[in-house]
Amino acid sequence: MFIDSHAHLTDTRLLSEIEKVRALYLSNGVTCVLDVGHSIQSSIQAKKNAQTFEEVYYSVGLHPDVAGSVDKTSLDKLIELSSDKKCLAIGEIGLDYHYLDYSKEVQLKAFTSQLELAIKLKKPVIIHSRDACCDTVNILKEYSSELNGFLMHCYSYSKETAKTLLDLGAYFSFGGVVTFKNAKKEDIIKSIPQSRILLETDCPYMAPVPFRGTINKPEYMPYIYNKVASIYGETLSDFCATVKNNFETFFKI
Ligand SMILES: [Zn+2]
Repeated sequence: MFIDSHAHLTDTRLLSEIEKVRALYLSNGVTCVLDVGHSIQSSIQAKKNAQTFEEVYYSVGLHPDVAGSVDKTSLDKLIELSSDKKCLAIGEIGLDYHYLDYSKEVQLKAFTSQLELAIKLKKPVIIHSRDACCDTVNILKEYSSELNGFLMHCYSYSKETAKTLLDLGAYFSFGGVVTFKNAKKEDIIKSIPQSRILLETDCPYMAPVPFRGTINKPEYMPYIYNKVASIYGETLSDFCATVKNNFETFFKI
């Protein structure tokens, strides 16, 4: 009934006790988890997890914090890793000007070359964008018509930017932050049609209230669903059905 659209089961804090993590999320009604790659190593492990566990899907991609590793060899490796039918997307890819582990120039090149890869592979993309609103929007204006869909993961920009991105075909994903007291996400979420919404944990990061500050896990998905369903004034079961439909539409499964 609950789908976690963005998890990092490959993180050692979760992977080291994966059987226990899995048993808990399954018993909490989480029926599907997308294990998101962010490096070559995590993309390899995410693929393994998807091949091992029926309800797990995966994506492959190089996060802006490894932007310097994007070259012909790593892009070829992503192509190879994406061949399984359980690979739903290219990502997470994008821009992160908060930490600037790599220069903007290097990040822009890494981002656009993976967008081109996704177009070639006919797969949607999962986008990480932090403190890089303008460049992200400008690039998506350029690429959106060719992309097979794009998802703004952990969306953190304004309502106005959301409108611009909606017009380009964006889907939006929200996580534990929606449960934080000062997050003020209600207005932004309400401005997005329910048909464009996905939910995620981004575990092991960003645990929802009342687990804030601890290691996040897919088993906490119901807290995020409950909060967003209440923002829209929907019953939990109707909202679960909507999000499931969105997930299947966006990722074409
Ligand atoms: Zn992530």
